[in-house]
Amino acid sequence: MKTKSLVALLLTSATLISSPARAANSAPLAVPIAQTVPDAKDVPYPGTIKLDIDASDTVRGVYRVTETIPVAAGTRTLTLLYPQWLPGNHGPRGPLAELVDLSFTAGGQKLEWKRDPVEVYAFHVTLPEGASEVVAKFIHTSPLQSSEGRITMTPDMLNLQWEKMSLYPAGHYVRQITIQPFVTLPAGFTAATALDGLAQQGNRWAWAPTNYEVLIDSPIFAGRYFRKWDLGQKVTLNVIADKAEQLEAKPEQIDLHRNLVTEARLAFGANHFDHYEFLLALSDKIGSIGLEHHRSSENQLEPGAFTEWDKYEFDRNLLPHEYGHSWSGKYRRPARLWTPDYRQPMQGDLLWTYEGQDQFWGTVLAARSGLQGKPVVLGMLAAWAGNFAEQAGRRWRSVEDTGSDPVFAARKPKPFASLARSEDYYTEGALVWLEADQIIRAGTGGRKSIDDFAKLFFGMNDGDWGQLPFEVDEIVTKLNQVHPYDWKRFFETRIGTPGQPVPLGGIEKGGYKLVWKDEPNPYDKGRYADAKVNSLTYSLGVTIDKDAKVTATQWDSPAFNAGVVSGSKIVAVNGVTYDADALKKAVTAAKSGGPLELLFQRGDRFQTVRIDYKGGLRYPWLERAAPGKAPTGLDLLLAPKRPVKAKK
Ligand SMILES: [Zn+2]
Repeated sequence: MKTKSLVALLLTSATLISSPARAANSAPLAVPIAQTVPDAKDVPYPGTIKLDIDASDTVRGVYRVTETIPVAAGTRTLTLLYPQWLPGNHGPRGPLAELVDLSFTAGGQKLEWKRDPVEVYAFHVTLPEGASEVVAKFIHTSPLQSSEGRITMTPDMLNLQWEKMSLYPAGHYVRQITIQPFVTLPAGFTAATALDGLAQQGNRWAWAPTNYEVLIDSPIFAGRYFRKWDLGQKVTLNVIADKAEQLEAKPEQIDLHRNLVTEARLAFGANHFDHYEFLLALSDKIGSIGLEHHRSSENQLEPGAFTEWDKYEFDRNLLPHEYGHSWSGKYRRPARLWTPDYRQPMQGDLLWTYEGQDQFWGTVLAARSGLQGKPVVLGMLAAWAGNFAEQAGRRWRSVEDTGSDPVFAARKPKPFASLARSEDYYTEGALVWLEADQIIRAGTGGRKSIDDFAKLFFGMNDGDWGQLPFEVDEIVTKLNQVHPYDWKRFFETRIGTPGQPVPLGGIEKGGYKLVWKDEPNPYDKGRYADAKVNSLTYSLGVTIDKDAKVTATQWDSPAFNAGVVSGSKIVAVNGVTYDADALKKAVTAAKSGGPLELLFQRGDRFQTVRIDYKGGLRYPWLERAAPGKAPTGLDLLLAPKRPVKAKK
């Protein structure tokens, strides 16, 4: 040790003595990046890839993959890609870290491979002379606990998503790559998917060759406990559950799902599928999901979704939302969200309509079908409007800009989300579409509505399940066909410009108003109870979880001003151990001068905070603006279009 120090000292002294004066520090030049992965071309990949997945290991939750890829004569380098930009994820979410134990062979001979140093989702495989096919073997390790990612396999069910466990050759539009899938499932499992041409032998399931785009768009739900119901119009509700008894849906519950299929057809005027499979998992073990596809959707609801029907009404927007995507997002795809492969970045500048218009229609269809009652639907609209009424981040960030959120934020919780904003293109987009509907109704004296636009925008080419990309100009043109208005400016202002007024136009033109009450509306009540949160977002400005931890502090709120931040734990309210009701009572009592002294623990520090707040409890509601029974514009929007028997 001593010797080392002495040497170091001598070196330092020597440097000090001999160092000459320099004009500038060393300044390297950039090493050029060589592009080695070919861009996709609209030409067929020769031959049919065989994708064989052993999904039977439910103990370890692993998927063992053997993929046989034919190659054209003379090929010496094969570049294979792992899907990175995933449709419906709107971001580069391909779980590459879960692709492990990768090897390649040709004619039984092990092949060299290198990951591309720049595009790490690409693998370059060196082929021997005369190779006619390459066999890739690897394992997709599904997360076993939620901290590792979304769990896709339990002892009783699995959700197989092809994009997580397949490679595809670079240089081709994915629709030009032919592939045949084979899956070995656990014994006793039944599979549901939109794939066609099923051939099943025991636990081994195979489907007809298809193209890679359709494969990626056609995931599998499989489970030990399975039931399905025909909803009409070639739409099937396929349900798997943790337990057999959770599948006991009542006929009238299924009828509401049939209403959804009927109402969607009436609204859009065409279907863009040859058949459609709702894939629904009733589970608190598999990871949650709501993911749209052209001819199917992946959905997770709580185990009691059918058996505790009333409790979960707040959550029944999921299926209408995902079903609506068959039209909004899948068939009508924003130009820059359509990509020829899963390597080209997807651009979210039109997510306010892909998701926002779909959020709007999902809500309208939930109301029209009866899957959600009107008080809950009005509560949802109130929850969205209330959020924007007090959201600081609106001052700097437009709705359009939130379309880039999925690319960089990956849905992780944010410190001060109310200032950061997140994926607000969903709900603010929906409120802007609501305003568009009410402008049409008012401007045409009630003769026309957003339904007329929907038929122009979604209702062409019945049965076509390709993709029809669009730019915002088409929306403007078709809205003008329904009702002439400055729609271009409408969207440029509401969507494209930060610092907009609270988006209440649709609610107010629709005959309602946003009000604040001292208890949650039926929608918020349901979701707060389910999540076990104490939301004081619009009063003190904090959300508190079941363990008394602050999970969010509203920017500029009384709690914020008093220095309360997320991660702190609330220990006591006015000197007494915290519980949710005690805090609410104290907030109410503070209106008439009661104390509001809170003890927080943040790390190893304790902090007593006196909050100066006399506004009482505040939760958002929608109420009719004027008394009366005549239906308002919003009432008319939410009313069923199908003939409904009058109530006795
Ligand atoms: Zn969506």
